[in-house]
Amino acid sequence: MSNQALFERAMRVIPGGVNSPVRAFRAVGGTPRFIASASGAYIVDAEGRRYIDYIGSWGPMILGHGHPAVLDAVTRAARDGLSFGAPTEREVELAEEVIRLVPSIEQLRLVSSGTEACMSALRLARGVTGRSHIIKFEGCYHGHADALLVKAGSGLATFGFPTSAGVPAEVVQHTLVLEYNNLQQLDEAFATHGKDIACAMLEPIAGNMNLVRASVPFVRRLRELCNTHGALLVFDEVMTGFRVALGGAQSLYARELPGFAPDISVFGKVIGGGMPLAAFGASRTIMEHLAPLGPVYQAGTLSGNPVATACGLATLREIQQPGFYDSLAERTRSLVTGLTAAAAKAGVEMVGDSEGGMFGFFFTSSLPQNYAQVMATDKDRFNRFFHAMLDRGVYFAPALYEAGFVSAAHSDADIAATVQAAGEALGG
Ligand code: PLP
Repeated sequence: MSNQALFERAMRVIPGGVNSPVRAFRAVGGTPRFIASASGAYIVDAEGRRYIDYIGSWGPMILGHGHPAVLDAVTRAARDGLSFGAPTEREVELAEEVIRLVPSIEQLRLVSSGTEACMSALRLARGVTGRSHIIKFEGCYHGHADALLVKAGSGLATFGFPTSAGVPAEVVQHTLVLEYNNLQQLDEAFATHGKDIACAMLEPIAGNMNLVRASVPFVRRLRELCNTHGALLVFDEVMTGFRVALGGAQSLYARELPGFAPDISVFGKVIGGGMPLAAFGASRTIMEHLAPLGPVYQAGTLSGNPVATACGLATLREIQQPGFYDSLAERTRSLVTGLTAAAAKAGVEMVGDSEGGMFGFFFTSSLPQNYAQVMATDKDRFNRFFHAMLDRGVYFAPALYEAGFVSAAHSDADIAATVQAAGEALGG
């Protein structure tokens, strides 16, 4: 069946034809590709067309598709049972592995999606501090829990408005939305509301407004203000965890700010290797507020699922091979350098950035620092480029505000083919 026929069939039975909105290609127009299979760096659509995949299931597929060690672990686990609803040794192993790799964490709880992990981290922060207010930054996405579907209010340090129908204003009345990388707004928010703030939640390298880094001074000030006011700092590393570095984005900030650590960390995507698995972790003192030890309730029928944990563990083991991140980062950098060089040759303004296996590029003259600057980049140019690349067998994220991902399966030849296609697409 063609992509178009499948899309029409899907639209009859699934709202918008998709089970997660960005897949519908609304931002760029056109027909979404229905994927039939994937292998290594490639995905193949229902019409048998192959694409170099820079979405990687939106982040999890850091080893590429169908890695033999992962497939083997998953098949063996599946034979032993799909779900028990009882504890397993593998959950303990996964928690031990993450704790070993991320020094700020002493205990970890497993859940099934990034949304669930962020929502639970928020409840935990509120439960620990006994406070209601939370800070979120414009352009960061933390899943679709009600309290986090919010955009900035009219003035600085005022509470936000829901971004989705079905979220009552009362539910976001404790959510302050501040501009990313804006130190002055941080100071104002804490000066006005400090004693009521339970936590600030941050995507340290934001991947939901393409790729924007939180500046070191911004992270330093945020950490200081949280300390001064008794608020918790939550790093949402659903995208950056095990993607930008083995120790996540927090390890990069700790390099610049000795002793730096968030209070709570949230993981998803790579930690599950492509299966529904996410997690949140913190010090033992914080985590012991969770049920059954403490008063903060949190649970899940499929939490710590044996097949998902097998997939996550196998993935985490592979990414610890010596030199894994150096070569991933090198290949990702060469992609970004190649794309921007192709644009320059074609006389098109483009800038890009990458960290580990995560990258972003923008049609503008300098790297954006916040959401407004991202949204002010050339959207029409991006949309034309997206389709021109898709036509040439390169599958980038179908929206200018999404980061891209390179996997260990992408070869130098894949990068070269992508850069060559970009040169043609940009008319250079
Ligand atoms: N946090 C971040 C930073 C994300 O990028 C995402 C999803 O893209 C989420 C949370 C939500 O994760 P999930 O889609 O698994 O619910």
